[in-house]
Amino acid sequence: MPEQKPVLIVGAGPVGMVAAAALSQRGVPVTVLEAGAELSGEMRGSTFHAPTLDMLDDLGAAKAMIAQGIVAPRLQYRSRDQGIIGDFDFGVLADVTRHPYRLQCEQFKLTRILHDLLRDRPGVSIRFDARVAGCTDRGEDVEVVLEDGTRLVGSHVLGTDGARSAIRKSAGIEFEGFTWPERFLVLSTPFDFAEHINELADVSYYADPEEWFFLLRVPGLWRAMFPVPAEVPDEETLTEAYGRARFSRIGPEFEDCPVRHRTLYRVHQRVAKTFHQGRVLLAGDAAHINNPLGGMGLNGGVHDAVNLSERLASVWQGEAAPDLLDQYDRQRRGVTVEHVQRQTIANKQNLEAKDPNAQRAFRERMAATSADPVRAHEFLLGVSMIGSLRRAAEIA
Ligand SMILES: Cc1cc2nc3c(=O)[nH]c(=O)nc-3n(C[C@H](O)[C@H](O)[C@H](O)COP(=O)(O)OP(=O)(O)OC[C@H]3O[C@@H](n4cnc5c(N)ncnc54)[C@H](O)[C@@H]3O)c2cc1C
Repeated sequence: MPEQKPVLIVGAGPVGMVAAAALSQRGVPVTVLEAGAELSGEMRGSTFHAPTLDMLDDLGAAKAMIAQGIVAPRLQYRSRDQGIIGDFDFGVLADVTRHPYRLQCEQFKLTRILHDLLRDRPGVSIRFDARVAGCTDRGEDVEVVLEDGTRLVGSHVLGTDGARSAIRKSAGIEFEGFTWPERFLVLSTPFDFAEHINELADVSYYADPEEWFFLLRVPGLWRAMFPVPAEVPDEETLTEAYGRARFSRIGPEFEDCPVRHRTLYRVHQRVAKTFHQGRVLLAGDAAHINNPLGGMGLNGGVHDAVNLSERLASVWQGEAAPDLLDQYDRQRRGVTVEHVQRQTIANKQNLEAKDPNAQRAFRERMAATSADPVRAHEFLLGVSMIGSLRRAAEIA
């Protein structure tokens, strides 16, 4: 027997909106509950990997994203003293994806595109100013309570309410892991680094034992990210002087780059103990957070939402037993721990390595990998998260 009640999705961030699109595409009614008065305008994630674009294409959202973003065909690793140490062309992935590149597009554009798609879709309700306080799994269904006391009942609740998830806390699910001592500062500037740095790719990571950084192009802006040592007070990082000093690390001639946005982030590596507990499910930042080196947090969240929607739709329609949802947990939590957490921690350690032997090993590895087509293909499968999706599909 199909369920009668809608799936309650808490949080209209990119992951909640992808889940709403994927579930409703399969005929499952959804109610999305968003705390904000409107969709968030925060830039945060801006990298979309190839398989994520394939998934968004299946939901009807990729074309608009591509039209509003920048297609980045190359990925570069550099060091401040040696210049380019590895240069990769995503085009070699054309045998395994319809989108063999990275798309640089701010995540707030995705939620708006999905909102436009879903606005009039039957069975979809999106409610703003609806901050959820908690949920109760009643066995036959699940009840969600808003902070204003309103109660809603659904077949299942999906917590896509970000790193501080009220759903995760209410279900008593631990968020295991650690917080890095340093914070990350993002400065964005309309200054065009590509006109001044020879052969600069749209996505370029700089390894440096004193202060690594990366440069990433989004429409109309470059975003530069720097680590900030624990002892520097938050207020100081947002001053003009601090920003000038950071830009001068890219090169003394860049000290005066105008700054459009300055944002300081705390950085964590945490994974929820389970992504599935009875009628409560978690996806996206509510389920896992990691440092942004490699652009895997949001992409992994989209992969969660798509994987879950397929299984939850079968369970909701009465075509599969509820334990199919355990497979979602095994597959997505499995690769989050094995692949995303491990890879993002390694990305940070490679860029910041102070030991000359470790530095040399990383540089030699990048040079050798980019020079060998077979190794470069394998490497890009990992970087673009196709590897983690293949691994997930192998988990029973
Ligand atoms: C500087 C930076 C750069 C990044 N770059 C990338 C990148 O390039 N690629 C990438 O893959 N990832 C990136 N990330 C990570 C990415 O931003 C997150 O993984 C992504 O936002 C997660 O989406 P989400 O929908 O799970 O959660 P969120 O985006 O946090 O959305 C959660 C939503 O839930 C709502 N909400 C919260 N609490 C409640 C409640 N109690 N009731 C109702 N609604 C609630 C919020 O208002 C919000 O709309 C980056 C992160 C940072 C900080």
